[in-house]
Amino acid sequence: MSIVQNSAQKSKWYLPGVIGGLGITMKHLLKNLISKKSMQTINYPEEKYEYGPRFKGNHILTVKKDGSLRCTACMLCATNCPAECIKITASENPDPKVEKFPISYEIDILRCVFCGFCEEACPVDAIRLGPEWQTPGLSGSNFTYDINHLAYRPALKGGIQSHVDDEERHKEGI
Ligand code: SF4
Ligand code: SF4
Repeated sequence: MSIVQNSAQKSKWYLPGVIGGLGITMKHLLKNLISKKSMQTINYPEEKYEYGPRFKGNHILTVKKDGSLRCTACMLCATNCPAECIKITASENPDPKVEKFPISYEIDILRCVFCGFCEEACPVDAIRLGPEWQTPGLSGSNFTYDINHLAYRPALKGGIQSHVDDEERHKEGI
């Protein structure tokens, strides 16, 4: 048998596979049209998937009762970040009870691997990974999240308060 005959015969055997594949596609199409519940996909963006409470999504810088940043610019999050995507510029805090605060806090979200090490490293619950997972942006600059975005974006409705209470800490002398 020649090489040309051999390849022609082989290509004939693809047909049952192609027809079988189309049959499976049609079966799922009809099943999904009849019952939406069995669908494996959702109609994004109208429908959004709800992840569990342990999901690590976009970062949040928490705030104190007065709405100011909880962060003390200790740099522990930036030091522990494996992607080196956190940049903090610290300054002296006008409040004598607080040593420092960040005048600039930036996360390059395109480099972030959402490992949560920054959250783990923070001693004062100043940074958390929240439930939001969408990271849209039209230009490179949109992917560097600054204080305004991290602490006061509209989705946070004025800011998320830290669990660490300053008044309690001062009473306890911490
Ligand atoms: S989640 Fe991980 S990679 Fe992202 S900023 Fe925090 S420590 Fe860095
Ligand atoms: S977020 Fe937490 S760990 Fe990072 S600099 Fe601020 S206080 Fe320190």
